[in-house]
Amino acid sequence: MKRLVGRSRPEVGLDRVGGIPEEVVPTADTHDLVIIGGGPGGYAAALYGSAAGLDVAVVENRRLGGTCLNRGCIPAKELLQTAEVARTVSEAGRFGISAGGDVTLDFSASTDRMWSVVDQLVKGLGGLLKSRKVTVLDGTGTLGDDRTVTVTGADGETTTLTGHNVLLASGSVPRGLPGFDVSDRVLSSDEVFGLDHVPRRVVVVGGGAIGCEFASMLVDLGAEVTVLEALPAILPGVDADVVKLVHRALEKRGITIRTGVKVEGQETGDDAITVRLEGGDTVEADRVVVSVGRRPLSDSLGLDGTGVKVDDRGFVDVDEWCRTGVDGVFATGDLIATPGLAHVAYAESVMVIKQIMGEEAVPVDYGRVPWCVYCHPEVAFVGLTEEAAQAAGHDVVVSKHRWMGNGRALILGETEGMVKVIAEKQANGTGGQILGVHMAGPWVTEQLGQGYLAVNWEATVDEVAQFIQPHPSLSENFGETVLSLTGRGLHG
Ligand code: FAD
Repeated sequence: MKRLVGRSRPEVGLDRVGGIPEEVVPTADTHDLVIIGGGPGGYAAALYGSAAGLDVAVVENRRLGGTCLNRGCIPAKELLQTAEVARTVSEAGRFGISAGGDVTLDFSASTDRMWSVVDQLVKGLGGLLKSRKVTVLDGTGTLGDDRTVTVTGADGETTTLTGHNVLLASGSVPRGLPGFDVSDRVLSSDEVFGLDHVPRRVVVVGGGAIGCEFASMLVDLGAEVTVLEALPAILPGVDADVVKLVHRALEKRGITIRTGVKVEGQETGDDAITVRLEGGDTVEADRVVVSVGRRPLSDSLGLDGTGVKVDDRGFVDVDEWCRTGVDGVFATGDLIATPGLAHVAYAESVMVIKQIMGEEAVPVDYGRVPWCVYCHPEVAFVGLTEEAAQAAGHDVVVSKHRWMGNGRALILGETEGMVKVIAEKQANGTGGQILGVHMAGPWVTEQLGQGYLAVNWEATVDEVAQFIQPHPSLSENFGETVLSLTGRGLHG
């Protein structure tokens, strides 16, 4: 078994379940916290816990950083940045700049850059864990009785650790689609990052966040892209006005979007793959990217008979404190049925560490976490959609501002999209508490912060309208949208 990063024997005992024991029992391989999984859920707990003085061990069977760093957020956003550069260069003529001939793509240089960003982050994470004296074990962890974790290395060798606390953070893997096993022509999100060229024609099955990001990236890099979505609209969970706008914008860039279509199967030929739709229609492509969600990875944890319960979809059952049914055993991240986002995993794991430290902890408010989709135009939102606010019984007032009147957006040449703010309606018709902030447009994933704070601080329109936005800036659009909900705006 390879011990990647080590720490001297912990000076802690097992006098109580969970928390930090006071009595010192010098037991080898006993830690304050043993974590299974080195993705965002696991490494956030390791970093935050070790910063608080806990002795932590992490068990990881692939690569530190998990899905997010190695085959998710980071490589996806890196390729989307390549797509943005391609767009910028091909539109440089608008600014009077000639790039000197046709815009060409060296995809292997692009993917080299993507992997160098990934490697730098993974290496940095390993170094940080080492500097915090976190023990990192290379192997597959399974949970046993009394918070023991058996680690099996690739060579079959095993070792057993005991945690005063154990965190299950084994994450998730792409969900498959019957009849669409991964092959040369059928890719899950994992295989997209292994492409050695941009396919000429791509069908993306699934119009959720990840599907739309891939579609947006591939069309910018020169592919013909068709998105097939079974639901009536793409981007489920996103405010309907924003969905409409993004749908139109993606179509304008050449993506074919078909909603309300069910994929029945596929035939792989020598030169192409043909996707069959319910009703007999077919779509031909060179590659199919299946992007229909993710499946929690609870089956590798050996949970049978441990007292940790798993629901019928494979998610580990936890309460609002991320506690499983077994004392001192927690679970966070994609393994539990909460929003499948890296920053949600971080927040859950920080909350777990606070509990272990005996500090005041606050459960994650899942209805108010930030959501971002990095397609073009970008999407970012927090809080209730207009529809959900009404369904929850709120009398609402809504303001929407497009980017056309925003100086910075015009300067950037990025005027597609809008900011939409939903607030509780006061008796005089103006806005009270801000319930939801929804954005589509330039760099909105970087602009959501103000909306996030407003919704989570339960701020009112009047309070937020007082704040000054820098000029000229994209964030003025949020300021103006809020200001108009006071009953008086500058531009509308
Ligand atoms: P994971 O990241 O899956 O990490 C779990 C780790 O545990 C893995 O390394 C796994 O190998 C390891 N493991 C599993 N079982 C065992 C075992 N028994 N023993 C030892 N190790 C084990 N989220 C965002 O917030 N923003 C984004 O922009 C974003 N983009 C995404 C794009 C794509 C293409 C994908 C696929 C996902 C994206 N996500 C994004 C989601 C994000 O990646 C996940 O929510 C996040 O990685 C979950 O973290 P986790 O720690 O729970 O699980």
